[in-house]
Amino acid sequence: MKNSGMCPKCGSTDIIKVLNRNGWDFITSSWLLGLGANVRLARYLCGKCGFSEEWAQSADDIEEIRASYPNA
Ligand SMILES: [Zn+2]
Repeated sequence: MKNSGMCPKCGSTDIIKVLNRNGWDFITSSWLLGLGANVRLARYLCGKCGFSEEWAQSADDIEEIRASYPNA
């Protein structure tokens, strides 16, 4: 949805970029992932079917996630 602007589940182009309480375009969601690291994720929500997806905001964030799952 981030790149296509279209929901992969239902094909809707009604995509909402979810903002956090501070109006930023990402959420810091160590609690969501169960991680010790603070990782910034942008969330996109389909306005038709409710499907959502999250994207790490940087290569550093991806590496933080990788380091949190050493056996994956
Ligand atoms: Zn959808």
